[in-house]
Amino acid sequence: MTPLRDLALARGTVDRVTHRRNDKDWLDAAWADPRTRVLVVSDGCALVRGHTDLIFVSPPEAPAGTRFLLGQDADGVVYFGVSAELPAPPPGALAALLREVGALLGDRDAGLLTHAVALANWHDTHTHCPLDGTPTVPEPGGHSTRCPADGSEHFPRTDPAVIMLVTDPDDRCLLARNAAWPGRRVSILAGFVEPGESAEQAVAREVGEETGIKVTNVRYLGSQPWPMPRSLMLGFRADAPAGQAIAVDETELAEAHWFSRDELLAAIRSREIVLPPPVSIASHIIESWFGGPLPSTWTEPRGARALT
Ligand SMILES: [Zn+2]
Repeated sequence: MTPLRDLALARGTVDRVTHRRNDKDWLDAAWADPRTRVLVVSDGCALVRGHTDLIFVSPPEAPAGTRFLLGQDADGVVYFGVSAELPAPPPGALAALLREVGALLGDRDAGLLTHAVALANWHDTHTHCPLDGTPTVPEPGGHSTRCPADGSEHFPRTDPAVIMLVTDPDDRCLLARNAAWPGRRVSILAGFVEPGESAEQAVAREVGEETGIKVTNVRYLGSQPWPMPRSLMLGFRADAPAGQAIAVDETELAEAHWFSRDELLAAIRSREIVLPPPVSIASHIIESWFGGPLPSTWTEPRGARALT
């Protein structure tokens, strides 16, 4: 199995220039530069045109809100994010969610939107010091906050999650339908890494809890951020030794079944199942096992919302 490539949300090209985050003079000069581009994000949405290009504003056009440095491209253009109400869209523009357009945007824009949504989600939900409840103040670059009462510094949270494709000795893959998912949607298994646990241990535990299957030979494939609201998806393969029966945990899963490649293709073509969207790492892992692209069961873009 080849390593995963071209994961939709792991394509960013803009240098994060981390050494500039606390350089107030540099940040002020960048904000005053008319070439600087600002991406406004609100509840995981940004303005897009044609589902393929982000719409930026200049610093004077940017609404008031929490500001953070996203980076600088090879041409020297600096990008900031602002978490605020979206500006009025130009004609032909739409507000779209990262999960709707993440696979359609170009590399630069997919990376910028992923980065901006992740930081905005953190700022929106981590507004007070966890030690004493004082409202925190963002540091100049917007990548950390500080408590004015006790001086403690706080950094963005990312929650590691594992997602794994399990195969049996006949190389059939295990697909399951989450109890909370609609109709025919199935995917590979996934779950959060617990405190004090390795990613590989989390893979074995989650597969066991959800399906009763014991796995061996857990191996890492690749990762992509999934800031909805703050996960990092770590992709794995694992083997299920012979002679095991699936015993679904009905609080988590509605059903789980083994699929050969032929059975999977037939189930997709008959619309018996719907696979995860191309923006997800699950889609890439399933296609990597399958050995090539699968027929699309996902009509993108489905939910891009017109602004009213
Ligand atoms: Zn504090």
